[in-house]
Amino acid sequence: MTERFLDFDAVRDQAHFETVLQRYGLEAKGQGAERMIRCPFHDDRTPSCSVNLDRRVFHCFACGAGGSILDFVARMESAPLVEAAYLVASWSNVDAQPSNPVGRKRKRLEDLPVNSPLDFTLTLDPEHPYLAARGLSRATVDKFGLGFCHRGVMKGRICIPIHDEQGRLVAYAGRWPGSPPPAEPRYLFPRGLRKSLVLFNYHRVAHASHLVIVEGFLSVFRLDALGFAAVALMGCSLSAEQEDLIRRSKVDRITLLLDGDTAGQAATVELLPRIARRHFVRAPELPIGSDPDSLDEADLTATIEHETA
Ligand code: ZN
Repeated sequence: MTERFLDFDAVRDQAHFETVLQRYGLEAKGQGAERMIRCPFHDDRTPSCSVNLDRRVFHCFACGAGGSILDFVARMESAPLVEAAYLVASWSNVDAQPSNPVGRKRKRLEDLPVNSPLDFTLTLDPEHPYLAARGLSRATVDKFGLGFCHRGVMKGRICIPIHDEQGRLVAYAGRWPGSPPPAEPRYLFPRGLRKSLVLFNYHRVAHASHLVIVEGFLSVFRLDALGFAAVALMGCSLSAEQEDLIRRSKVDRITLLLDGDTAGQAATVELLPRIARRHFVRAPELPIGSDPDSLDEADLTATIEHETA
């Protein structure tokens, strides 16, 4: 791990903040090392973000954003620091031979597992009766791009588009409408999708201060309709990558709301201390046999709001 930080230092010390600003079309005002830019992290009318070209740091006096040149790029790209370090190194022509730390980082980045963005979209029927039967309004169906698939691998299923943290479509999950026949799984995920790298709906809610973490898609749709920012684990385990996504979001309060069954309860016991290391987190217990999607609106709202009030 020490090596990781050394790598970042190497890039940071050789990078050019001016190059980075140019990359994003940000105009720097002023002379010398100390410059001002219109802050890209809030709706800035007057340049209120200072950038120190020598020290390679930035600080916004209005919204408080700040950090190193790597933090700046990581935030602009919604990407991990390691990815930002790689980008900055390549833009600034930082020496990246395999023998030096940056070169090793480059290699490691290529080894990182990713979900590649899809180069197609499915044509889906948003009018399928199952959607309304599950209480999904047309607004929810449209917002999440849901619909019934008539052909292909997902034929006969309700498709749910899954995006990466930057909002790029990476997969569709297919839910059998109703109870599936014996040979069919309820949910079908494309082979090759790394669920552990994704938090469903994260790209829409990464700026929320209060986040509800649930197991499944339908719970996210339900909570979204009630005005809560929610992400789904698509199961009940939390990977290191998913933990990292939460760490990099704006969230300060978390409600962990897993299903009221044995698996959900066991997962809650395991995840609670991990999340609590970095965030204020509550885990209200749901009645046995229930999940966020099956509670009535008043109970669900009370459960979440009471616990976070
Ligand atoms: Zn700002």
